[in-house]
Amino acid sequence: MSATAGTDSAPGGDPGAPDAPGAPGAPEASQARDLTDLELPDLEAALAELGAPPFHARQIYRWVYRRGVTDFARMTDLPLPLRARLAAAFAVPTPSVLERARSTDGTVKFRLGLGDGHGVEAVFIPDTPARTFCVSTQVGCAMQCGFCLTGRMGLARNLTAGEIAGQVRAMAHDLALADRPFNVVLMGMGEPLHNYEPTMRALRMLAAECGLAVPPRRITLSTVGVLPGIARLATEPIMPNLAVSLHAATEELRERLVPLGRKYPLADLLAACRRFPVERRGRITFEYVLLDGVNDAPADARRLARLLRGIRSKVNVIPLNEAPGIPYRRPPDARIDAFGRALAAAGVRVSVRKSRGRDIRAACGQLILEGALPSAGQRMAARLR
Ligand code: SF4
Repeated sequence: MSATAGTDSAPGGDPGAPDAPGAPGAPEASQARDLTDLELPDLEAALAELGAPPFHARQIYRWVYRRGVTDFARMTDLPLPLRARLAAAFAVPTPSVLERARSTDGTVKFRLGLGDGHGVEAVFIPDTPARTFCVSTQVGCAMQCGFCLTGRMGLARNLTAGEIAGQVRAMAHDLALADRPFNVVLMGMGEPLHNYEPTMRALRMLAAECGLAVPPRRITLSTVGVLPGIARLATEPIMPNLAVSLHAATEELRERLVPLGRKYPLADLLAACRRFPVERRGRITFEYVLLDGVNDAPADARRLARLLRGIRSKVNVIPLNEAPGIPYRRPPDARIDAFGRALAAAGVRVSVRKSRGRDIRAACGQLILEGALPSAGQRMAARLR
């Protein structure tokens, strides 16, 4: 379904209404500093350079994140001269909604446009009470997991912190949900720990109390197993929930399904998970995409249960979302049930994920920008296949 960008703001209209991306008053991004890439302390320092007191940073965050207003002229609690100086110095780029596709189950897939012409996909999953925004951290992905459409694209580029947090901003205001509690999952396009700094900066921006105030317990970061990133994540003051994409219970099969497994073996990944500080975080989620005749036997489930012994964990079984070009099949329902039962019988906390948005390709592993021109990274990925 085609859609226009967010709600236009009429001059003189509701000062609290969100601005459309690229609203009047904002200078060209090329001429100005990107305000959306600044954490609160950075913005306070930038205001000091303009001779303004730091408390205005919280007001600006409130306008941009909570109210969706990006035109400084409409930030009515700022002094007029400061608004003019901000407009001359900063841009507030916001991903534009290029397309919005709504699934029969209520899931909404967004195609969002970035300032340089690239696009990313992000998804809203409406289950109440846990409304969830699933966002991307990269344009494409370098990891080449064998069952994933995004992996087929290759990596075009990393997203900035402002672009990662901006996806949440864009969707929350598009759906008028910015003042409601929601979860954020980093499970869209890309491997978050392959773009570590911008991802963590984005989480800190989203957590800011004067902005969207998304607490770390409402954020889940999903990784395919970038070990240095997991070790570093364990030291972060703002630590999201950890989800690890496992998909196999043997080294050989994991290396086949997840090429990164050749660099970071399964045994090392599980050792890193054992060290991860989960006591105050609950459990590590292990994601396991179920592929017909590949990793879905009850013996695979029992092996997986043995591997996870000693880790506070739960397993999220995700029956494959089939797609053209993916050389695997979704198992029949009876086999999916048998796999889940075998895990549960072995003492594993398990859920079989209901796939959301399959009719609009918004489900796990199905995010891809069809028709996008291949980048150098994509062409390289194609050569490696
Ligand atoms: S499953 Fe995740 S890490 Fe693997 S290729 Fe797809 S997006 Fe990248």
